[in-house]
Amino acid sequence: MSTHIPVLIIGGGLTGLTAAALLARQGVGCMVVERHADTSIQYKFAGISPRSMEIFRSLGLEAEIRAKRTGDQQGGGIARARNLADPDVQWGGQAWPDASPYSPTQPATCDQHVLEPILRRCAERAGADTRFNTEFLSLEQDAAAVYAVIRNRETGKEETLVADYLIAADGANGTLREKLGIDRKGPGVLQHWMSIIFDTDLSPEIGGRPLTSCFVSDLNATITPRPGGRWLLALQYFPEKGERPEDFDRNRCRELVEKAAGRAGVKAELVDARSWEMAAFLADRFSAGRCFLIGDAAHLMPPTGAFGGNSGIHDAHNLAWKLAMVVRGEANARLLDTYDAERRPVIAATLAQALARLQQWFRDPAGRLPPAVAIVNDYDVVFGQRYDSGALVPEDGAPERAFEPVAELAGIPGTRAPHLVIERDGETLSTLDLFGRDFVLLAGDAKWRAAADRLRKDGGLPLACHVLGISGDLAPEGRWPGAYGVEESGAVLIRPDGFVAWRAPGVETDIAGRLVQVLEEVGMRIGHRDGTRR
Ligand SMILES: Cc1cc2nc3c(=O)[nH]c(=O)nc-3n(C[C@H](O)[C@H](O)[C@H](O)COP(=O)(O)OP(=O)(O)OC[C@H]3O[C@@H](n4cnc5c(N)ncnc54)[C@H](O)[C@@H]3O)c2cc1C
Repeated sequence: MSTHIPVLIIGGGLTGLTAAALLARQGVGCMVVERHADTSIQYKFAGISPRSMEIFRSLGLEAEIRAKRTGDQQGGGIARARNLADPDVQWGGQAWPDASPYSPTQPATCDQHVLEPILRRCAERAGADTRFNTEFLSLEQDAAAVYAVIRNRETGKEETLVADYLIAADGANGTLREKLGIDRKGPGVLQHWMSIIFDTDLSPEIGGRPLTSCFVSDLNATITPRPGGRWLLALQYFPEKGERPEDFDRNRCRELVEKAAGRAGVKAELVDARSWEMAAFLADRFSAGRCFLIGDAAHLMPPTGAFGGNSGIHDAHNLAWKLAMVVRGEANARLLDTYDAERRPVIAATLAQALARLQQWFRDPAGRLPPAVAIVNDYDVVFGQRYDSGALVPEDGAPERAFEPVAELAGIPGTRAPHLVIERDGETLSTLDLFGRDFVLLAGDAKWRAAADRLRKDGGLPLACHVLGISGDLAPEGRWPGAYGVEESGAVLIRPDGFVAWRAPGVETDIAGRLVQVLEEVGMRIGHRDGTRR
């Protein structure tokens, strides 16, 4: 007898665990298969963008992540100096500036090995089955299901699982992409780096200011403080000059720490030294049949801009609600095609932004990068991502660009719904707090709600409606119609991932008919004009 699971996730890293938490919170049965005995122990991703924090906020994890934070993005600055003793420090900006004009939350610094257990607990609490110390071996798929063989690494026992859908979250070195016959392209490996972790008593301040990270020009390296007197020194090594990761032994690392500190005799306890490759790749497709690639399995980008892990979190968010609605029978399977259509162009543009930043910092490191694109603001990249086609009704005449300027987000279909502070029953919240499971119609006229309520009640459609304004149930600060680009009587349909699907400038004559038509266009299963399901 094989075990049947609605969604099987291979890889219990950053993105696999995010996907599991999102699916399980929506009541979708899922299993995570991770070959390591526990979550990652490596220092990798640390800078959680405010858009990713919005996603974690929707999972109820905002406070827990902030309590466990491993740095302070808000207070600290990014410096450049010869070494930490250099009196002539140049200060750059903050890693992520204040996000309050755009978001109900702020960025956070939380190392991946601290964040992953939080995500794992969240997924398990919500009912996800997590199988650590378990390896994915092989898969087959047909029109009906995916058949995957896994092996428990402790007992050696193999098991065949039958899943409706599979998420490949098996990272940069996973095998699923190739097994699915998906190629990847890009400039490839660009640089070789060492991450050296050590404990020391260096002050996490430089020139009297708190430090987020410092580029140490004596070493061409970055040095970053972590809580509890721990430091991370990241520097390049050059295999073409005969350098190897194993050359970074205790003595060499101590010498490097002294150079970075700018003084001899610094006492430092080496914790870990490991290599990693900075690379740029993009998979040709993000899906094959019933299988979907997310995170580093789908794309790899240099950490310049800190977009890599954050993009993987957004992949999981884009895919989870679509899978949930298809598994629940609310949407047609074709909704899943929009995952590749939406995410791949945006990831290609994000990768180009990471490469442009890399070229600004290092010039063309391997001499084989495409000409750098014009750099856009970090927050345009993380908040302003724009889907031109997919689970949305595009509008005529909207300019085609991958990123909308964050300050101009105004409810265009395919962009993240603008954040507005609203008040409900005396409680202050954000428009973004209204989204998560069903489609949400924000409207300025009660007629919209009457129609939406009927479609939900009689047709079983996953649709909620909130009326904003003086006569409504929500009181927004400022004028919501202007912020969302409609008139006072208009309406805006928001997807569960907080992206705008469609908007009506004003009230329509046949509201129910129009809503049914739009929901069908974005992938919902609807039979008749009254919204009954086929
Ligand atoms: C040094 C460094 C610094 C970085 N800094 C940042 C940053 O500041 N901001 C940012 O956004 N990103 C950053 N990144 C990138 C970020 O860490 C990655 O994008 C992120 O880890 C990708 O998550 P993932 O879940 O896709 O893959 P991973 O985290 O690699 O997880 C994949 C998981 O799949 C498991 N797996 C693989 N094959 C199998 C199998 N056959 N069976 C079972 N399990 C399997 C692996 O064991 C692993 O746990 C950094 C990366 C590095 C290396």
